[in-house]
Amino acid sequence: MTDPATITTGPLQAGSLPVDEGFKVLWLQSGGCGGCSMSLLCADTTDFHGELRLAGIDLLWHPSLSLETGGEVSALFERILDGRQRLDALCIEGSLLRGPKGTGRFHLLAGTGVPMIDWVRRLAARARHVVAIGSCAAWGGVTAGGVNPTDACGLQYDDDRPGGLLGADFRSTSGLPVINIAGCPTHPGWVIESLMALANDELQATDLDALARPRLYADQLVHHGCTRNEYYEFKASAEKPSDLGCMMENMGCKGTQVHADCNIRPWNGAGSCTRGGYACIACTEPGFQEPGHAFHQTPKLAGIPIGLPTDMPKAWFVALASLSKSATPRRVKVNATADHLEVAPAIRRTRLK
Ligand code: SF4
Ligand code: SF4
Repeated sequence: MTDPATITTGPLQAGSLPVDEGFKVLWLQSGGCGGCSMSLLCADTTDFHGELRLAGIDLLWHPSLSLETGGEVSALFERILDGRQRLDALCIEGSLLRGPKGTGRFHLLAGTGVPMIDWVRRLAARARHVVAIGSCAAWGGVTAGGVNPTDACGLQYDDDRPGGLLGADFRSTSGLPVINIAGCPTHPGWVIESLMALANDELQATDLDALARPRLYADQLVHHGCTRNEYYEFKASAEKPSDLGCMMENMGCKGTQVHADCNIRPWNGAGSCTRGGYACIACTEPGFQEPGHAFHQTPKLAGIPIGLPTDMPKAWFVALASLSKSATPRRVKVNATADHLEVAPAIRRTRLK
């Protein structure tokens, strides 16, 4: 990590740390909407560049945040490829467009005439770590949906199948696979914390889950910390948009199955999909973009949701759900289908004597 004493002061421009200082990050945008970069700028800090700098992270180049363009960027790439510039993390945002016919020529990196997938392959071979920023770069994401005319894929996955652009056996020079910071968009805290951990050599293979997502966010479920948990406990369910109840039974919420800490590490310091009244649509999971049903409806079989909570056997769920429903307090039942609190909790004496 950079010694704070060596840190330059004043406004930071990308790449302003001394030449050999810092954890060198190159960020490229491929086939995506740019939403992960937008999300990154919502990082919980008043001084985004300063936070990176204090963590010892030197952003070599980012298409939206850096001043350099054209030949300067090509020259940076060449310096990385011929070994004159160290590359600690290659961050790719957006899916990789292999079409047409595997040439990658649907997406040439502007000014170079070279397909983006070729730049990514070459740079990945020189990078200490390769990081997929968001679900497009991780699995293919929305860009790979439908008939996928651009033959989009993730860096090391094609949906939930290992492979993608770099292949299942790819390892960066650190020995790690592509690190999948999945999400659509991905949470700024997941990105910054992962880069900080990498910069400090504190992210090892054991810190990644089975889909190579950092466990620092993927060992939680969206359901953890959801403000609708009391409704969930009693299976007091929302029936229409804006209802306060749990959205699992009718409104398509997959929070009990989805790996992410959105309700423990709220977005913009306060929000999450479920807190805003929207079902969790599983944006950190492969294939979320095509669930096979309307996002806001829960698919059921014989009245029972098909997607049951992770780690819970179906028989238990059915038994507990029917017991909970029969014990639902009136307050919870009424509020579940209202768009504001109609019944406040009763006031109880909480002293023992
Ligand atoms: S709305 Fe979703 S995340 Fe919230 S309690 Fe219900 S199932 Fe869990
Ligand atoms: S709550 Fe679900 S859909 Fe929303 S950001 Fe988190 S993982 Fe994605």
